[in-house]
Amino acid sequence: MSEATVDYRPMWNELGLNLEAHDELLGVLSQSYSDIFMKQKNRPEGMAYFDFVMSEVHGLRIKELMDAKRDGRKIIGTYCTFVPEELVIAVDGVMVGLCAGADFALEEVEKILPRNTCALIKSTFGFKIGQVCPYLEACDMVIGENTCDGKKKAYEILNNLVPNFYAMDMPQMKTAEGRVLLKSEYLKLMAKLEELSGKTITIESLKKAITIVNNKRAAVQRLAQLRHADPAPVSGLDSLLINQVYFYDNPVRFTESVNKICDELETRITENSGVYPTGTTRVLLSGCPMAVPNWKVPSIIEGMNAVIVGEESCVGERGFQGEVSTEGETVNELMDAIVDRYLQIDCAIFTPNSQRLEHIKEMAEKYKADGIILYSLNFCAPYLMESFNIEKELENSGIPTLRIETDYSQEDNGQLKTRIEAFIERIND
Ligand code: SF4
Ligand code: SF4
Repeated sequence: MSEATVDYRPMWNELGLNLEAHDELLGVLSQSYSDIFMKQKNRPEGMAYFDFVMSEVHGLRIKELMDAKRDGRKIIGTYCTFVPEELVIAVDGVMVGLCAGADFALEEVEKILPRNTCALIKSTFGFKIGQVCPYLEACDMVIGENTCDGKKKAYEILNNLVPNFYAMDMPQMKTAEGRVLLKSEYLKLMAKLEELSGKTITIESLKKAITIVNNKRAAVQRLAQLRHADPAPVSGLDSLLINQVYFYDNPVRFTESVNKICDELETRITENSGVYPTGTTRVLLSGCPMAVPNWKVPSIIEGMNAVIVGEESCVGERGFQGEVSTEGETVNELMDAIVDRYLQIDCAIFTPNSQRLEHIKEMAEKYKADGIILYSLNFCAPYLMESFNIEKELENSGIPTLRIETDYSQEDNGQLKTRIEAFIERIND
């Protein structure tokens, strides 16, 4: 999305990107960013920082990563909120999210993956095969986790496509045994990161890292809380964007920027001003994570005189809830605190996962949602399976709920618009 005056092409070339394909991708992203984000009215001034980050998402931020590499720091790529950033920061590494939110090289991807694979996994492969993701190419190690079956099996193939791929196992149940497994996987990951970086994690380095990540989570939690206000002080689209930038940006700078925009939103709330009029229909989004530039469903919802007031998602509150205690006196005690916090993530790969339904209900109440949209990607068995029961339970509790299933293409835009419009009318009746 860079319209930079700086020429980043030598850097992209050094990373092995396919410059022609990459130009094409940036062109599409830039157009869709300006159509979706820059046309919004009454945006908080603090969004200028995030617009800048997005304009330089393949430029300045990648240069920062390359500078970090030259300083001997390691870049670690991840696909899941279960990978503890605390451990990466504790070895002075930089963690970046690699999930992609756009189709690319789909035809090539479908030669090595089944067609009925979710768009998130397909797009991960498309960005690799098409050589268009500078984050992935900058990584010294890529971590894949055994969460859903799709990812687990796809990683066996990705392992042959990316150098230094590291597979992390995951429990499927939050039992005592599940906890033991997660801790042992985190200890193995810690040892791997120490080996890769040549640095030993100490109680001091780990406490410092925990504090950095806790502060980052606290900032986005603060942003989330402010969305309870009516009129909404910030759009759902801009909030989602901040939650997406969470996975790319320098964590300390990101935290400062989020806190700054929160100060501005607090003033807006005091002045009773917002992005949409008081009484605008309020929607909670729940389901699969939305990676950049997957803004399709939110832009449809907010294009219909409704505002999104929260995301029950890993790119949202499911991913950043809770904090890690810094109370421990040994690395082992801090590792326990890390495991305790991460085991609270109510991802649909766990069974049973009733905690997630409770969390959705809590969020609906806290953010005064008038209705909930359950968003699943096609072929995502965990979230699709859960959505039936969740819809029933929410409707039984008197919360209007719409279940939608989609992908990254634009082909179903018309159908989605019709269904979402009818849902909003139903809420307002
Ligand atoms: S939805 Fe589950 S698998 Fe996906 S990022 Fe979140 S925790 Fe990981
Ligand atoms: S949990 Fe669903 S959306 Fe996420 S990678 Fe697996 S199938 Fe795709």
